[in-house]
Amino acid sequence: MTQKITPFPEPIYITRPILPDLNELSEKLKEVWASQRLTNRGPQHELFQKELLSILKVPYLSLFNNGTIALIVACQSLRLSGEVITTPFTFPATPHVLTWNNIRPIFCDIDPVTMNIDPNKIESMITPQTTAILAVHVFGTPCDVVKIQEVAERYGLKVIYDAAHAFGVEVDGIGIGNFGNISMFSFHATKLFHTVEGGALTFNDKNLKAQIDLLKNFGIKNEEEVVMPGINGKMNEIQAVIGIEVLKYVDEERNKRRVLFDTYRQCLKDINGITFLDKIPDIRNSYQYFVIRIDEKLFGKSRDYVYKKFKEYNVFTRKYFYPLCSDYTCYKQLPSSTPSNLPAAQKIAREVLSIPFYGGLSTDDVGKICNILKKIRNT
Ligand SMILES: *Cc1c(COP(=O)(O)O)cnc(C)c1O
Repeated sequence: MTQKITPFPEPIYITRPILPDLNELSEKLKEVWASQRLTNRGPQHELFQKELLSILKVPYLSLFNNGTIALIVACQSLRLSGEVITTPFTFPATPHVLTWNNIRPIFCDIDPVTMNIDPNKIESMITPQTTAILAVHVFGTPCDVVKIQEVAERYGLKVIYDAAHAFGVEVDGIGIGNFGNISMFSFHATKLFHTVEGGALTFNDKNLKAQIDLLKNFGIKNEEEVVMPGINGKMNEIQAVIGIEVLKYVDEERNKRRVLFDTYRQCLKDINGITFLDKIPDIRNSYQYFVIRIDEKLFGKSRDYVYKKFKEYNVFTRKYFYPLCSDYTCYKQLPSSTPSNLPAAQKIAREVLSIPFYGGLSTDDVGKICNILKKIRNT
């Protein structure tokens, strides 16, 4: 390595959204204009819903204006209350959704390898108030759905999965949205697949469909009956059209990311102190993020130092997920937030760094990012 490493001419961020062709998008928008229907289960919504059912390989699905409202409705539809066991290593929406339902989040430690909720630690967090487990498929890695189901059944708990990172993930060919009582997908612009803002709930119980669709539309059953205190969680026609158009590019984006994944893996595997989650057999990856872990002792530099140094090269990484939800001012007073209850999560939150990962990067860009990392290590 004799070549001089210079900063990227333009800032490089961790992700870029899929942007569909504007002409094709405006053709679809003309259809919407002609229909004069902009929201409330219009034709585009129905078409998009049908396409997603087959792509996600699930029997039932309900579309939402965003993933957070979808998750709030999921808790309402299962009538959760009391305490729900969840992970501190996630996006703020996960515990906040519980709080918005008057439920106390109970933070459970995570697995030191997968970074998902540790299924062997759930049982010790269960109390007579526990009604459910809210687990997250962090960075698209599937949770241990078998063990979680087993604990849930033994204690009569419901299971909700936050599958915001897991679009298109399959376990032995089964869509990830089939596990637990309900799964939530987010279609926010930062996700692999998006509708600018948007989301969906998927589930196997036919009876939930009517309930969830009522809850996301104010509880309005018909012109003269409002049967429950619902909210406005509806996906509109413009979002549905964006979704239909973005769907056309998802496979291509996934393929590009697969190549970049292999490049990262080749370049990073020999750097002492850097680890990452490799491919898991029988799992279809979401390629949502590329997250490295920096072992300060072996690497010789801290994660925070690497994060700062990368900026000097115009590379803007993110500390995902840091801080832990259990360290937010609104949750740190909870008994389960005590750091000694969450040793793996505390350690991992200090090590993780999400690095640039999107189809618009070239393999040369990825090689350069790795060389920057090596240089940071060696200087
Ligand atoms: C993006 C995300 C959400 C929230 O989804 P929105 O659609 O932005 O409301 C929830 N949980 C996780 C883990 C996420 O990454």
